[in-house]
Amino acid sequence: MQLTVYDGADTIGGNKILLQDSGVNLFFDFGINFNLRNRYFEEYLVPRSRRGLLDMFHLGLLPPLRNIYRPDLEIADVDVWSRLRLPYPVQQIELHGVLLSHAHLDHSGHISFLRQGIPVVTSLCTAYIAKAIQDSSRSDFEKEVCYLIPRVESNGLLESGHYKKFPAEQRPFAVCDCAPPSSAGFWQSLPTSRGMVCCDLKMIEAIEGLPVKAFPVDHSIFGATAFAVETSAGWVVYTGDLRMHGKRGHLTRAFAQAARDLAPVALICEGTHVDARVAIGEAEVHARALKVVRGCRNLVIADFGPRNLERLLTFRDIARDCGRKLVVATKDIYLLQAASLADGSVTPPERDEAILVYKETRRLDSWEEDIYAAYAGRCVTPHELKANGRDYVLCFSFWDINELIDVDPDPGAVYLYSSSEAFDEEQRIDIARLMNWLKLFQMQPVGLPDPQTGKPSDSEKGFHASGHITGPDLLELIETIGPGVVIPVHTQNHEFFRSNIEPGRLRQPEKGVPIIL
Ligand SMILES: [Zn+2]
Repeated sequence: MQLTVYDGADTIGGNKILLQDSGVNLFFDFGINFNLRNRYFEEYLVPRSRRGLLDMFHLGLLPPLRNIYRPDLEIADVDVWSRLRLPYPVQQIELHGVLLSHAHLDHSGHISFLRQGIPVVTSLCTAYIAKAIQDSSRSDFEKEVCYLIPRVESNGLLESGHYKKFPAEQRPFAVCDCAPPSSAGFWQSLPTSRGMVCCDLKMIEAIEGLPVKAFPVDHSIFGATAFAVETSAGWVVYTGDLRMHGKRGHLTRAFAQAARDLAPVALICEGTHVDARVAIGEAEVHARALKVVRGCRNLVIADFGPRNLERLLTFRDIARDCGRKLVVATKDIYLLQAASLADGSVTPPERDEAILVYKETRRLDSWEEDIYAAYAGRCVTPHELKANGRDYVLCFSFWDINELIDVDPDPGAVYLYSSSEAFDEEQRIDIARLMNWLKLFQMQPVGLPDPQTGKPSDSEKGFHASGHITGPDLLELIETIGPGVVIPVHTQNHEFFRSNIEPGRLRQPEKGVPIIL
């Protein structure tokens, strides 16, 4: 049995971990390595979909494995395989499945390039959230996680096949945490006029004879799952991304107990946030943000990470407790609807009276028009936000900030930043830009990082809870599970593992080099 970390060995995200045992080949996640991608690309400079796999191979963004990628992304004028820029040999394998831990693109995005027919095994909630993200995003060849749009070559360039002749092709997803619902309307429908060759959700407990177990865990996106696979060498456990300090921290603890019972030979664990000794919990964020909203007599704008439904529901509760309504974008409604179909604890937004929809002034996609029609009496215009700002908490992010020109809030409105620190130069520049907007509208910033350091000052801390486990909590998790070896991924702090795990038990992965167990 061997494990090869093709990506995620020394970066935050991009996990692509190949497990090979008795002729069975599985990946734990197949995400985008944004660290590497951002070395070459940015917002408007992106891989060229018209050249298919060429850009991805030339820049070393995909593992050199023949037979796993979409044939429709190869191009006639270049042998893309001659362009691989990686220091290790090309292998040919039959890939039997991807175990997808959650729907963040640094774990899921590059599934887009896998050939149709390879099963994606995940939780029902992750399947639905991944589909909602794809449905509500602009068409993008790095976001074809749930279904792909066939490409055809014309004059050496790839383009999407005509929507009348080339239906989308849904990937075969299998869920391992519950039986899929019998009415799969959402799963089988597309929000565009293109048809789709559908693939029913299945339930599975093994892949090619290897038993698989799934455990729900706490992370900053619903549906996050840890996996265990029983191999000829014993159980291999993979944490995905997780933490103990969210509102669902009990799930991570229950996972640790259940994984312990398997006496695993290996634990592949994340280590994003191990520098932190203590965590700000979601409950603390709730308490601090509640105080700010209570003290404001004007509009409050809440800025938090996209798809962080836990934070969205935190602000929904705060708004309700302060006699306000939460105003969200059509994308959030779409995502909430999908999550509520998969997770009974999420109230469907159409039945949640505390949630209203922001009426944007732009051309709409048809799925957005459907939402505006369904929420006809519950749409809030910029004009209404200006007139009665104190009745609302508006969910916005930096990328919506030009909408402020329409909202034109009264001076003294609050901008509550409830998102992660600025980690790099680009993000610090965006914070400085955001501050210019707030100054222009005389808004009061709360929780914003300092544009010089990227970190919030002491008085501005406590408005964001990280999605990732702290160092002490991770050591407790490892101690509880008691694996034969520990393989850290999704981290840049290997020193933490060297100084806390006995040398005989630690296997530091090296990109593309198999670890044999
Ligand atoms: Zn994540």
